[in-house]
Amino acid sequence: MAGIYIHIPLCKQRCYYCDFYSTCNLEQADDYVRAVVGECALRIHELCGEPVTTLYVGGGTPSVLTQAQFRTLVNGLREHIGMGAIEEFTVEVNPDDVTPQLVENLREAGVNRVSMGVQSFVDRELRQINRRHNAAQASEAVSTLHRGGIDNVSIDIIYGLPGQTLDTLRYSVEQAIACAPRHVSAYCLSYEQDTPLWKMRERGEVSEASDELCLAMYELIRSLLTDAGFLHYEISNYALPGCQARHNSAYWDGTPYLGLGAAAHSYDGNRVRRYNPSDMVQYVEAINRGTVCFHEEQESLEECINDHIMVRLRTSQGLDAEQFKQRFGVSALNCLLTAAKQHLERGLMDNKNGILRITPQGVMLSDAIISDLFVS
Ligand code: SF4
Repeated sequence: MAGIYIHIPLCKQRCYYCDFYSTCNLEQADDYVRAVVGECALRIHELCGEPVTTLYVGGGTPSVLTQAQFRTLVNGLREHIGMGAIEEFTVEVNPDDVTPQLVENLREAGVNRVSMGVQSFVDRELRQINRRHNAAQASEAVSTLHRGGIDNVSIDIIYGLPGQTLDTLRYSVEQAIACAPRHVSAYCLSYEQDTPLWKMRERGEVSEASDELCLAMYELIRSLLTDAGFLHYEISNYALPGCQARHNSAYWDGTPYLGLGAAAHSYDGNRVRRYNPSDMVQYVEAINRGTVCFHEEQESLEECINDHIMVRLRTSQGLDAEQFKQRFGVSALNCLLTAAKQHLERGLMDNKNGILRITPQGVMLSDAIISDLFVS
């Protein structure tokens, strides 16, 4: 079992908070999608014949591709990937790109899940972060997807936005629920260095939400979504029963995946990670020469342990101490339990039936808690 991730680092405009690699120069799109297909041909063997069960096209904004470009991409991939085993085929879209024609194209290609970056249903908040859609377009986009036969829709929400209050967040989450998605991802805004939002904060044009407000927002989102029947299965992710994102869950389970495209990365399921350059020109030139261009790293045992701690503690399943001991040994488990003791005592973690979890009180501190548990 394996996954394939395709990165489309193209956007029509840049959101002020974003530090992902992407470009607004859409003229490179034709060359780029051909290169991705070329890379697939060069690297599919890395999955050692494992059936590909999830395919995820993310970005950037994959929905900026034209119909012809998307067809080139999917038909090209089809020549190298056995598509028969694919259970989940997700494409990320921006609300204002969603038209009945786009939905038809996605369905024709076999897409059965769409992830939409909505972020907020308050227009003032959307303008503040330079999103290119408004709230009405977001609601309409989900309806268009449903009418076109794509029922499995995920909505992304951001909390801690400049000027956002508990009331406006409540409104956004209620609007999201009213759209009838099957999955919601909710991320806390972070101010990444040198982004326009970072500079706005430096100039005093926006202020960062306090930790207390972010915690209250996190709890509000959790209670609204769980009351609406969503399971909180990962720190940032909620799903209706049976609708957990399979592709992302595979990342957390250590399933091998092949990442194609500039800035994509791959994991062989056994300690080897490969990173493509965050440079479309360099990437396309390399693939056109028939060469791969990733940088490869072999994870050390410590990195492997730390990855395991991080991904397990982010999920509601938690970290199974017995499994951890079998994989990494009794002394690694003892170190982990010793490091966890202070957080267990403060109620930021719990240990029930040998499963370590971060408690709701610890969630806003989860990054710090997890890094305390890391081995060095
Ligand atoms: S659309 Fe997505 S990738 Fe593009 S700038 Fe906005 S957040 Fe970043």
